[in-house]
Amino acid sequence: MTAMKPRPSFPAKMDAKAHPAAAKPRAVAPAAPVAESRGHGMDSMAVRHNMVQKIAAQGVRDPLVLKAMGTVERHRFVDSALVNQAYEDTSLPIGLGQTISKPGVVSRMLELLCNGQIGKLGRVLEIGTGCGYQAAVLSLLADEVYSIERLRGLHDKARENLRPMRLHNLHLLFGDGMVGYAKGAPYAAIIAAAGGEAVPQAWVDQLAVGGRLVAPVATGLGAAGSQSLIVLDKTPQGVRHTLLEAVLFVPLKSGVA
Ligand code: SAH
Repeated sequence: MTAMKPRPSFPAKMDAKAHPAAAKPRAVAPAAPVAESRGHGMDSMAVRHNMVQKIAAQGVRDPLVLKAMGTVERHRFVDSALVNQAYEDTSLPIGLGQTISKPGVVSRMLELLCNGQIGKLGRVLEIGTGCGYQAAVLSLLADEVYSIERLRGLHDKARENLRPMRLHNLHLLFGDGMVGYAKGAPYAAIIAAAGGEAVPQAWVDQLAVGGRLVAPVATGLGAAGSQSLIVLDKTPQGVRHTLLEAVLFVPLKSGVA
């Protein structure tokens, strides 16, 4: 086979394979290398590898997290019109006013969640399934993942996005994650992809002793609206909070819609 340049051919190929409706030629990607249909896997791998290198350069070190980020095909979770941005370090709209988080932030939070542990986490709860991307990455880092979403449209979308991956340890739930998911408790780890005024008590209650929670939380005074990452460790002596860098997440809301 002749050597092809993987990067330029990737976006057009992604469209052609993953999103048949968008398979028309586009100005950004020359049509030449798109003819065969099986090669895109390698191209996508190369672009993902590039993304992982950037994440590592930002300081993420956990080898399992980097491996998982290099494995999950982020382009399968975004709209066909955004596929060529899927491996950039940017958040992207996923519908219903919500966003898929930046890969840099996802990997940073997952590294915090794993906390230098060798091997996989036990049972994990994710609040805010969104398009299902982070849930897929988590499923490679944990024995069992429960992921809850309050918007029916996104819950359904995530189910559709994840179906081909056949992740048998990932359980998608439709409901209000503010109350956690008591049936799966206690959790070795809890991660939230939406930020509230404070960490709901239900999450702390459902965290195992020795477990860790990572979430965005409001830190701005009044209506300033700033958020930071919070790490909460539940120890036999009590709960320890550590406030980290500023972040920008969609709001944590109660109820379902
Ligand atoms: N991890 C997601 C990011 C989605 S954005 C991904 O990879 O795509 C955060 C999501 O949290 C949104 O879909 C939003 O609807 C959801 N959310 C907000 N409040 C929630 C709540 N109380 N329970 C469950 N999901 C909630």
